[in-house]
Amino acid sequence: MTKGTAVGEVCLIGRPASPGLALSRLFVLTDSVRSTAARPAGDPAREAERLRGAIIEAIRELEEVSRQAQEDAREMLEFQIAMLGDEALAEAAFATIADGEGADVAWRAALDSQVEDYANAEDEYFRARSADLTDLRDRVLRVLSGEEQQSVPAGTVLVALDLPPSRFLGIEWRAGSAIALAGGSPTSHVALLARARGVPMVVGLGADLMAVKSGQEAMVDGERGILVVAPNETTRAAAQSREAEIEQRSAVARQYQHAPARLPSGEAVTVMINTAGPDELSLLDPAICDGIGLVRSEFLFHGPTLPDEEAQYRAYCRILEWAGSRPVTIRTLDAGGDKPVKGLTIDDEGNPFLGMRGIRLSLLKPDVFRVQLRALCRAATHGNLKVMLPMVATPRDLAEGRAHLDAVVSDLAARKVPHVVPPLGIMVEVPAAAIAIDRFDADFYSIGSNDLIQYVMAAARDIASLSDYADASDPAVLSLIARTVAHGKQTGREVSLCGDAASDPAIVPHLLGTGLRSLSVSASSVGLVKAAIAGALDR
Ligand code: PEP
Ligand code: MG
Repeated sequence: MTKGTAVGEVCLIGRPASPGLALSRLFVLTDSVRSTAARPAGDPAREAERLRGAIIEAIRELEEVSRQAQEDAREMLEFQIAMLGDEALAEAAFATIADGEGADVAWRAALDSQVEDYANAEDEYFRARSADLTDLRDRVLRVLSGEEQQSVPAGTVLVALDLPPSRFLGIEWRAGSAIALAGGSPTSHVALLARARGVPMVVGLGADLMAVKSGQEAMVDGERGILVVAPNETTRAAAQSREAEIEQRSAVARQYQHAPARLPSGEAVTVMINTAGPDELSLLDPAICDGIGLVRSEFLFHGPTLPDEEAQYRAYCRILEWAGSRPVTIRTLDAGGDKPVKGLTIDDEGNPFLGMRGIRLSLLKPDVFRVQLRALCRAATHGNLKVMLPMVATPRDLAEGRAHLDAVVSDLAARKVPHVVPPLGIMVEVPAAAIAIDRFDADFYSIGSNDLIQYVMAAARDIASLSDYADASDPAVLSLIARTVAHGKQTGREVSLCGDAASDPAIVPHLLGTGLRSLSVSASSVGLVKAAIAGALDR
């Protein structure tokens, strides 16, 4: 978090989690900060009874929230109810109570240890469940302490350390409502819910956030990831005019979101989405897109150990099931550069963007690469899967990648493991590939404009002060895109673009001008991109 001040105001900078703007009063939620130390333990039978009663009451509360929740949140809540109803969850707590400990301390200790186990799990899915357990821990502790849950006034900016999904669902969100969290993450369940409900949200504002007071006026900008406390007149006026502009753009986006994308001439354009994993898909309607143009498989590699074949297979299947018959392009691990993976990437490179990243690293670690390829070929039996190699710079990169795929396929066939051989494409993100695209005999091409721009313009993508150079409409960049598109047309191979440039409605006309007819964009920009394709934003 960074802090800045203008006259009379304090600006806290975090990370954007849900777009939109709110100008309202703060409400500080304190019931998530709880201590269990003070209460002395009573008779073990009595303490066990208290815990049993608190679990039953917490289940009742969750059932009530579930009854009122929309379809997309019910599965999440039913999962929590089932977890809380499972006797195994509280077994350790009851054992500690029998040894003389109080219900509160015993429950917290038992749940803390399980939260830690889940948080360290190899499988991303189980790691994400640690937040559900934390929520259950705190809900039962609150019932045990007899504290009332704070009621959040409608239309306020909710300030908290973090916010569990079940708590979000129990709050009435109205115009002016927003969320500002000291911790949290843009990929959490609660961020997905906030995006789905149109509640602006900023996360990662840091511990200083908790020094603000309920009742102070504040502005939340969910697009820029900032919270301004006590905004001055200039900030307020700017916010009000941006609010009107944002509302107008969202109305246009809603109008176009579900329709097929068409140019004003009627010609169809493919619009797919990018994703960082199955969790963020669960609240999205697949009907808004023509498939998934980029799955960044790095999401599987953030745990303490590398994911095994089964964990990867399960995650890929979940993505394919979400997409149904729509195509899904999963990119093999693109570690390195600005995406280090502990125990895999090289730590002391002088310039990691020009280092051992993407396919180079996979070829250096064939055991890790082949586990991923095996999981992908097996998952390909469940949908329309394509596989794509990142950072390909020479035809040799592609040939060696394909050789590993062939070897994995032969092995699966020999062992009679059900599998399908997916088409193998490349990211066109290194200028060498774009310039000499006819040397690359790939099944399809996907232009990675984020990296292509940084390498063409010699401007690192993670240096904010160089962002003026990161211009996708620069003629040098557009000529490389046009070259790739022309090669695709000549050879009958699909060319798409999956970098951030495709999600920018102002850049879309330039991309279409190169002849490109397939874009893969962030899910939140589908509506506006389709409107830009239709020429509806210039009117
Ligand atoms: C790109 O480089 O444009 C791209 C889509 O990949 P990433 O941003 O993951 O490097
Ligand atoms: Mg890239």
